[in-house]
Order: sequence, then structure tokens, then C-alpha cells
Amino acid sequence: MKLTVLSDNYTYIDRYFLGEPALSFYIEEGDERILFDTGYSDSVIFNAEKMGIDLSNLTAIVLSHGHNDHTRGLSYLWDKYDLTGVKLIAHPLAFVKKRYLGELIGAPFTRAECERHGLQLIDGSKPVRISERLLFLGGIPRVTSFEAKNPLGEYESDGSWIKDDLQDDSAMVYEGEQGLFLITGCSHSGICNMILYACELAKTEVTTGVIGGFHLMEENEQLEQTVRFLKDHTSGKLYPCHCVSLKAKHHMMKELPVEEVGVGMELVIH
Ligand SMILES: [Zn+2]
Ligand SMILES: [Zn+2]
Repeated sequence: MKLTVLSDNYTYIDRYFLGEPALSFYIEEGDERILFDTGYSDSVIFNAEKMGIDLSNLTAIVLSHGHNDHTRGLSYLWDKYDLTGVKLIAHPLAFVKKRYLGELIGAPFTRAECERHGLQLIDGSKPVRISERLLFLGGIPRVTSFEAKNPLGEYESDGSWIKDDLQDDSAMVYEGEQGLFLITGCSHSGICNMILYACELAKTEVTTGVIGGFHLMEENEQLEQTVRFLKDHTSGKLYPCHCVSLKAKHHMMKELPVEEVGVGMELVIH
């Protein structure tokens, strides 16, 4: 599997890609060409063109969850490319209206609009097999005592607003020769919950690595417990990005092999 970072908060010096507080990875695996999250703006298109990546022939688009820093870029993609027949894998709750402090922060489109643009919607509430080695996890069971405890804003259901615990939030796992490699969006469900579920589905105990948002900002009990968990359940390098603060990265680096991530980074996983 080859993964290229198309959108992230961080950009490298001397490489003139666009950064934004968002996330998008381009993944090639066998015959599949997958966009995992779409970023916030059209910077994904700008960056892909500059990298020589052709987004006109994607086979699947995966949305980790509905927040607009992961989904809003999709509307720029269908303005530019014909997405007819491209699979769109997402939890149904990724399409509901979401708000935080009075601002709409959910996907700026409905399921019907996606269908109108020719996308083939696939229900991501349960695990979805994308290729022989790639699996979308679907709804993540929340089993750890220290994660996913605080709702983030609200979502709309039948005209009323309900506290949003991001049940739509999921991840993708690559089942490689060397083991499991997890690809996350924001990890609102909890990075440890995601690792546990991926291991359960693949009937294994550890992941070889993780890339994506870990949603860790503060130096607190959750961070301590997460570091302890990762030491036991990961065997290779970690690539925390997007929604991981410098403080959290610094804390993790004392005990774990943490690598820097930026737009344009390529990762080949076996
Ligand atoms: Zn989010
Ligand atoms: Zn995010």
C-alpha cells in the first residue's frame, strides 16, 4: 500500500504544497485508488496536481466522519471531476447537520446530493471490505475507560439538536504482510478503541503502526493512558498528525517512535 498525505495542518519547508487544518490521504493498493477524507477546501486538488496524482480516476472515497475538515473538499472534487460510479463509504451519521458554538461544522452536503453526483453510497455503519487487504471499520465499540467521554457539539435529528458523541467516526485498516496498519481521521471514537476493534476484527493483538489524527491535545490522564496502551499494542512507527498538539507529540515521543507528518509525505507499507 502506498499512502500520500494530500492534506494536513503541517507542510514541509521548501516544498510548496498548501496546508490547512484538515486531513486527506491518497492511497493506492492493488487496483484501488482511494481518497481517505477530502480536506476542507480545494487544496487537495492543488496538492494532488502538483504531486502528479490523478484524482480523476478514484475507485473509492472514504469519509472517516462528517466534520467539514474531512468532508468539505468533496464538493470541489465533484465540481472538477466526474465521480460517477465511485464508491463513497461513510457512516450514515456522517451526513447529518452538526454544529459547534453556533457554527455548522458537519458535511456541507446531503446523501441525496452525493447520489446526484453519481457517487455509489455504501453504508459504513458496519465494517466494509474495500480490497483484500483494506478494511473500513464501521462503527467503533467504545470500550476503554479513558476515551470518547465528551460530546463535541450537537447533531440534528428530526428537527432537534442532540449532543454529538460522533458515532459516525471510524478508521481504515491495512492488513499487510507485516501486520495491521491503522489509518485514522480524527479518532473522536478514541485511538485505543480503534486499535482494539481493528485487532479484534483481524484476530491479532498489535498493530504495526498508525497514521492520522489521534485527537490528543492536553497533557492529561487520557494522554498518559494512551501512551501506556500504545506501548503495549503497537510495534512500529506512529504518525500522529492533524489533531495532535505539539505538547501531546512531545509527550508521546519520550516513550514511542513518533515520526513527523506533512503534506507530500509518502509512506509505503508492506
Ligand atoms: Zn472531527
Ligand atoms: Zn479533524
